[in-house]
Amino acid sequence: MTQSFAPPRPERSAGIAATRIGAVEPKRLVILGATGSIGRSCAQVVAGSPGRFAVVAVAGGRDGAALARSALEFGASFAALADPAGYSELKAGVAGSGVEIAAGPEAVVEAALREADLVVSAIVGAAGLAPTYAAICAGRAVALANKETLVCAGEAVMAAARRAGALLLPMDSEHNAIFQAMGGRDPATIVKMTITASGGPFREWSAARIAAATRAEALAHPNWAMGPKVTIDSASLMNKGLELIEAHHLFGVPAQRLAVVVHPQSIVHGLIGFADGSLIAGMASPDMRTPIAHCLAYPERIVSGVAAPDLAALGALTFEQADLARFPALGLAIEALREGGGAPTALNAANEVAVAAFLDARIGFGELSRIVERTLEAMRAAGETPAPTTVAQALAIHHIARDRALALLA
Ligand code: MG
Repeated sequence: MTQSFAPPRPERSAGIAATRIGAVEPKRLVILGATGSIGRSCAQVVAGSPGRFAVVAVAGGRDGAALARSALEFGASFAALADPAGYSELKAGVAGSGVEIAAGPEAVVEAALREADLVVSAIVGAAGLAPTYAAICAGRAVALANKETLVCAGEAVMAAARRAGALLLPMDSEHNAIFQAMGGRDPATIVKMTITASGGPFREWSAARIAAATRAEALAHPNWAMGPKVTIDSASLMNKGLELIEAHHLFGVPAQRLAVVVHPQSIVHGLIGFADGSLIAGMASPDMRTPIAHCLAYPERIVSGVAAPDLAALGALTFEQADLARFPALGLAIEALREGGGAPTALNAANEVAVAAFLDARIGFGELSRIVERTLEAMRAAGETPAPTTVAQALAIHHIARDRALALLA
């Protein structure tokens, strides 16, 4: 659909690659969200291909000491911390190293705009939107792991990517698998695009048991090791709903052609179906280093440290329908996707508030989707979900939804 999805260039032949060794400049990376789960996996992939990448800047949220360690580990020349409260720890951590540091949301945008070949957008939550948008507007290639950029302001962000000619590489496992399976095909030829859900820790639980689930139970994901926000969203299946919204924007596929299927083994991550009945699956072991390595090296291939799935050893791959009655968050997200306008923006913001409250033990698991639903109902009734055409408009809806969700908690 867009120039930001140019077909992959043919892989270089081994012979040509061999002549390039030693003559190639390292690919310059900016890693936003360096201290989080994706950032740490990026560090492993980068370390696995010595000399191939140069990390020029890193950014983190609150933990100054962790960001300092990350900057030193990557050999970055600039480190930006979103929360100024952690500045002194960052400063102490990099003392004597020559790493340039700054704090505050503008500093993170500055990191995003450092001269680089690829910006990894892996900051969790709406805080990732401004720096990612800045990088896209500057025409940078962006590997997108932050969901909120597209869920909150998909239309504005994709329009900006088209204007600036920015390449967007999906780093989330499902979208990455679909991107690879697409192989540059025209999205208009796709009859059905399906992303898989592991089903999370509560896949076989009753509705009543899910409603009473504890923080520890919700954080115990069977297949994936991820940060707390996305792990809770995976337990409620809201994560899958956000990913459908993301897929809609990324691939230009309308809501009615998008689907979710539960696949507990997490080996197939995405599927695309065509009018002739062909179904192409993207498969990989459930380890983020695979999509990360794909994005970092694109359009080449590097070692990720992860082996491809051994299908005979796995024996069986199973698939089942998602149960919207037990996982109402997914139903709310599908409804918001179909409704469009500002509904996905509001859904995402209300969910952020609800998940934070759950992690703080202020609400039960069963209340997560109720807060999202009631926020959306109130905003629809008040006419507060018009379609945002700019990022500023999307953020305005985001903040209204947050305030409404917070009021419901009070
Ligand atoms: Mg995912």
